[in-house]
Amino acid sequence: MSKLVLVTGGAGYIGSHTLVALQEAGFDAVVIDNLCNSSEVALQRVETITGKPVRFYRGGVGDRVLLDQIFAENAICAVIHFAGLKAVGESSQKPLEYYQNNVAGSLVLLEAMRASGVKRLVFSSSATVYGSEAPVPYVETLQTGSTSNPYGTSKWMVEQVLRDAANADPELSIALLRYFNPVGAHPSGLIGEDPQGIPNNLLPYIAQVAVGKREELSVFGGDYPTPDGTCLRDYLHVVDLALGHVRALEWLADHTGAEAFNLGTGQGTSVLEIVRAFERASGESIPFQVAPRRAGDLPAFWADASRAARELGWVASLGLDEMMADTWRWQSENPHGYRAVDEEG
Ligand code: NAD
Ligand code: UDP
Repeated sequence: MSKLVLVTGGAGYIGSHTLVALQEAGFDAVVIDNLCNSSEVALQRVETITGKPVRFYRGGVGDRVLLDQIFAENAICAVIHFAGLKAVGESSQKPLEYYQNNVAGSLVLLEAMRASGVKRLVFSSSATVYGSEAPVPYVETLQTGSTSNPYGTSKWMVEQVLRDAANADPELSIALLRYFNPVGAHPSGLIGEDPQGIPNNLLPYIAQVAVGKREELSVFGGDYPTPDGTCLRDYLHVVDLALGHVRALEWLADHTGAEAFNLGTGQGTSVLEIVRAFERASGESIPFQVAPRRAGDLPAFWADASRAARELGWVASLGLDEMMADTWRWQSENPHGYRAVDEEG
């Protein structure tokens, strides 16, 4: 059995960390990425960390000709599908781009897999598929839907497509991994999250405040019904998340059907707790002001992560201190991300 995995979006934040985990677990990887939100330098850094090559094809998952070429040239046993657009706010401005990339792109990938007889797929889904009405903690058996933006809806739609595909082909084996809030970076400081422009997410924003690139953090909302008034999220270390993909690949080898797994720690942490934890880990102070709520934010959600523990044998093992220390190492050693200089102008 080949141990060669096609990783779509492998140059991105979670993809690059997963490449390291795969190679360290004895898998080989081929990457397809159009670099619309990433840099090829990330792949070189992965090779530096693991000492193993990553075969790279630059292009989009909507390119059927390229996909057919990749499957013809490589004996691929499974696909991990990260490629997609992920900015929640932008998805409301550009819904067609989000459905084209995330939904249509996934369909083309599935057709190419079918044509080449590849039956195993790990899909990057998100806690956002639980929608705005779900009770916490989120458990996989809850009904999904009621998503509130095209990004979330695109993830929900692909989940439905994958379930239908698995119903139609009993040989298909699919893991729908619902990530909570991935943060942190590889402990080497060589790879990490490298957002373009002003970061939307909390940790990259805090990290840029810490290196002096941004003046202060806006804490979106201080009047939520939570212990300190700020939102609670289930932050998990990206290195743990990457290992979850390896566990899922192993699970695919002796299961069929499409199954969902939450990947989170099972604990909620507030925005202010994150600020304090980052200050502790970095020794830097993070000036902030409490600003109005951000449209669409839910007050609090976290995972029931027991299914992944039970069935995949996966639990998040790294805590907040490691998440913050590794974010800080990555940001302070790479203040402009993968670029040599600040290109924001
Ligand atoms: P990322 O933007 O760093 O990585 C996505 C990669 O896919 C990038 O390298 C980008 O260039 C590439 N890409 C985008 N569209 C493509 C296309 N059509 N063809 C080929 N390549 C394409 O994002 P990430 O944080 O690493 O997220 C990876 C996946 O996990 C995404 O599907 C995202 O929606 C999902 N996810 C992320 C989070 C999170 O908080 N980071 C949470 C839940 C789910
Ligand atoms: N947040 C914040 N300031 C920022 C970015 C985010 O206060 O500059 C808050 C946001 O309101 C949410 C939490 O941090 O409560 C996590 O937000 P993020 O965008 O990282 O993840 P989300 O859970 O929204 O996907």
